Amino acid sequence: MSTFTSRDIIHVDPSICKGCDHCTSVCPTRAIHGTIGEKHRIDHRKCVNCGQCLINCPFGAISDLSALDTLVQALNDPNKYVVIQVAPAVRVALGEEFGMQPGTNVKGKMFAALRQLGFDQVYDTEFAADLTIMEEGTELIHRIYNYAGVAGFEESGPLPQFTSCCPAWIKYAEDRYPHILPHISSAKSPQQMFGAIAKTYAAQKLDVDPAKMYSVSVMPCTAKKYECDRPEFIASGYKDVDVVITTRELANLIKQQGIDFRNLNDEEADRLIGSSTGAATIFGVTGGVMEAALRTAYELLSGKTLGKIEFKKVRGLKPIREATVEIPVKDLGVTVPVNVCIVHGLKHVNGIIEDVLAGRSKYHFIEVMNCPGGCINGGGQPIRHEMYA
Ligand code: SF4
Ligand code: SF4
Ligand code: SF4
Repeated sequence: MSTFTSRDIIHVDPSICKGCDHCTSVCPTRAIHGTIGEKHRIDHRKCVNCGQCLINCPFGAISDLSALDTLVQALNDPNKYVVIQVAPAVRVALGEEFGMQPGTNVKGKMFAALRQLGFDQVYDTEFAADLTIMEEGTELIHRIYNYAGVAGFEESGPLPQFTSCCPAWIKYAEDRYPHILPHISSAKSPQQMFGAIAKTYAAQKLDVDPAKMYSVSVMPCTAKKYECDRPEFIASGYKDVDVVITTRELANLIKQQGIDFRNLNDEEADRLIGSSTGAATIFGVTGGVMEAALRTAYELLSGKTLGKIEFKKVRGLKPIREATVEIPVKDLGVTVPVNVCIVHGLKHVNGIIEDVLAGRSKYHFIEVMNCPGGCINGGGQPIRHEMYA
């Protein structure tokens, strides 16, 4: 089991639960107990905080631990300098809470609303997603060199390398497959990288005491609330991210403050840590992290740009896709076939992990995301009530 115990993020309200049993069918870890007609309950030792049960409960009986009151207190505290980052998957879902078509990109209105809410600096997580891509791509290269016996890379980890940016996947691996941990990338997720940069680089540039800086993140994800409390994310001496709110909570805050969201004029994010390549925009969709990191590794190893990656489905299951990318390694004078795999939905990852642990995996790089389709369908996104109308 994970050695870290956090607050329990997801809860069932027994007074609302109708015992319909729908939540058990979407839970990736069999953490929900109860049969039809019974009040259901969550075993928090098995729960990975993904919120899939929450967004799929037809009766609204499941909720996540809210940080909105704490955030409002920070915004009203003159001694706090409050900075906020917003993940790529939020901007295309937030508009739904204001009656806009799903998929409408409301990035400009969102940044305008955040300024009206009183945030001192308003940032886009995409910059940190670029950093994660660079870290994961470089780490993959080092692991490939280690595998190929290149001197100087003996300390690099084993292949295949798994991605590390989904905290539900990380908790699952810690709880169920601790022996797989050396295979997981050591890169922090974009959220945590961003928080660390805010409390160090940005605090210095803005001449703000990091002790007074309050770092907030808006995520499509309930598991990110768990991630920000992990004890390792305090390397600068300050907590990287003080509080995480979901897309739904941001919408509620905007409504509570009476902001006319639909009629806001577009604004840009602050630039201090705002520039990005745009590659990270695909982070929110399954396959995005792997593809972005692989493109970086390809470019660094070959000096060329990678063309289209052709994926094929494996074992007849859509949630698993694979591809082989031939990478010409300039320094070694050889071309290396790199086998990559993308999995979304934790129940599909077990066989892949067991193959790796048994030494029979053909993959070199594996992306794992808990939520079906990736973060775009995360547990912090708007609930589509019409599904149950
Ligand atoms: S889906 Fe909701 S109402 Fe149905 S059993 Fe689960 S918690 Fe109860
Ligand atoms: S949050 Fe995720 S893991 Fe936890 S009970 Fe709900 S569906 Fe299962
Ligand atoms: S897939 Fe994305 S939204 Fe879902 S748990 Fe992982 S990080 Fe969170």
